[in-house]
Amino acid sequence: MNPKREYILNYGVDLLTKNEGLDFITKKILKNEGAQVVTINPEMIEMGQKNKELGEILKNADLVIPDGFGIKLALKMRRINQEQVPGIEFARELINICAENNYPIAFVGSKDEVLTKAIENIKEQTPNLNIVYKQDGYYKNEDNVVNAIIETKPKVLLVALGVPKQEFFIEKIKSQKNDIIAIGVGGSFDVWAGYVQRAPVKWQKLGLEWLYRTMKEPRRFKRIFPTLPMFLFKVIIETIQLKRNKN
Ligand code: UDP
Repeated sequence: MNPKREYILNYGVDLLTKNEGLDFITKKILKNEGAQVVTINPEMIEMGQKNKELGEILKNADLVIPDGFGIKLALKMRRINQEQVPGIEFARELINICAENNYPIAFVGSKDEVLTKAIENIKEQTPNLNIVYKQDGYYKNEDNVVNAIIETKPKVLLVALGVPKQEFFIEKIKSQKNDIIAIGVGGSFDVWAGYVQRAPVKWQKLGLEWLYRTMKEPRRFKRIFPTLPMFLFKVIIETIQLKRNKN
């Protein structure tokens, strides 16, 4: 676990920059240790509060990246200025580290055409990437996929199955092989394949990527509202209680 961890509604969030997070992972790889990396946001915390099994996975993750804008705001209420670390960028840098060091990597998730195109685009930028396994996210037999990953021995595993499927999948791998760095990357393959656009940089800088995505994909509206305001309300209450307990 990272030593700089703050707790929001009992969920740990690691206070680090993208490079510090990558350093943490690189050290783990060098020591032949595995890690479950979670890119936390308010919707995940809400899901974790409803689903105990997911909640435990999120709480036990080795590295929890401060991804969501709501997380940044929550930390701000605690007077912590934390830069947002988008999971998609973190995962892309992890791919570069694999390419530079010839670490074997595996990709699981998304539709077959998305996965194929994403890998094609990544390979254009890093031709010598050592991909030992790839599998789309619409398989019939999960055990076969898990076994194939264990046999092909990737050092890094990217899983794009959406939350909470990807977290449960990684947990299953971890229980059978504990020296893999595994990260749930949500819709990242869709972006790398060019099927989905990230928000313009200006929106990203303002922390409003979530709003842009919601406008582009209105089905996401249900996920953000009322989750985000409810989450912030609960954090305000928690912060007041923490202050009271201190005094
Ligand atoms: N997905 C999958 N198998 C499933 C469900 C989802 O491979 O059974 C993929 C889906 O094709 C998409 C990704 O998981 O590429 C999740 O995308 P989403 O945008 O919902 O994830 P988020 O980033 O919002 O968690």
